[in-house]
Amino acid sequence: MKISQLFKDRTVFSFEVFPPKKTSPIDTIYNTLDELKDLHPDFISVTYGAGGNTADSSTCDIASLIKNKFGIEPLAHLTCVSSSKADIDSILANFKQNNIENILALRGDINPEMPPKQDFKYASELVSYIRGIGGFDVSGACYPEVHIEAKSMVEDILNLKKKIDAGAEHLISQLFFDNNAFYSFAEKARIAGINVPIEAGIMPVVNKRQIERMVSLCGASFPSKFSKIIQKYENNAEALRDAGIAYAVDQIVDLVSNGVDGIHLYTMNNPYIARKISESVNSIIRA
Ligand code: FAD
Repeated sequence: MKISQLFKDRTVFSFEVFPPKKTSPIDTIYNTLDELKDLHPDFISVTYGAGGNTADSSTCDIASLIKNKFGIEPLAHLTCVSSSKADIDSILANFKQNNIENILALRGDINPEMPPKQDFKYASELVSYIRGIGGFDVSGACYPEVHIEAKSMVEDILNLKKKIDAGAEHLISQLFFDNNAFYSFAEKARIAGINVPIEAGIMPVVNKRQIERMVSLCGASFPSKFSKIIQKYENNAEALRDAGIAYAVDQIVDLVSNGVDGIHLYTMNNPYIARKISESVNSIIRA
């Protein structure tokens, strides 16, 4: 099923997982998926080469498991900046063989250890390449608080429009903690003629290390309500986890009440957190 079609009749609720480190047994993701499937997400996305993992066939293997074993639609992430067209051709062939129909087309971060190859400079070029091959529904990433390399919101949104014009049919946002940042971005995107569904990326903050990592990686701003939670509970793991879950639930209720197209929950492969949040928002999302 093409993911972009899901938005026609509902507020979409989806999850993100990442491949386990090579040193972890594959059973860990199997168990995670087994628990996530009971929460009935509309689709599950699988990251590619992110979070310190090397890019290999694990994204395809896990997406295939999600589809062919667990009966849920997968969205396979795919980055292009360090790949040649031949690399991408072989990955797409593997996706096709495994009935994977949905791809989140990304540029990927510039990694000094893996210098860019020259075939793809921006995600929009990968979107257009995949659409040229055909048979896939293509999604893209967007940044409510501006991509870290962009000089301004206007420049970033004009570049995002190129991704839509190249054929991206659905967007997933970078995580954010301030819903007003998302609303302001979405309004500007609509004015720029970006009319595809935009899912809001929500990451529940559940431990101190994760917070430090996020500040350095994506530069999401912290509203004072959120900063106060962190200050108060940073040394109490259980309280921080529960407050992080409550904050994410609060964000989701507000987004859904304001008519968001969908919620993409960064599960961090933690079914406990995904379950707590799903149970709190299910009736609201499905109302
Ligand atoms: P692009 O859309 O190409 O944009 C990158 C920068 O280039 C932006 O500043 C943009 O304004 C600018 N730009 C775009 N087009 C043009 C143009 N034509 N001319 C000039 N400037 C231009 N990374 C991974 O490695 N693996 C993952 O699985 C992964 N999943 C992600 C999922 C989501 C939902 C998000 C939001 C990000 C994800 N990332 C992942 C991170 C992503 O790879 C990085 O943020 C990367 O730096 C940008 O990727 P992009 O696809 O948004 O790039």
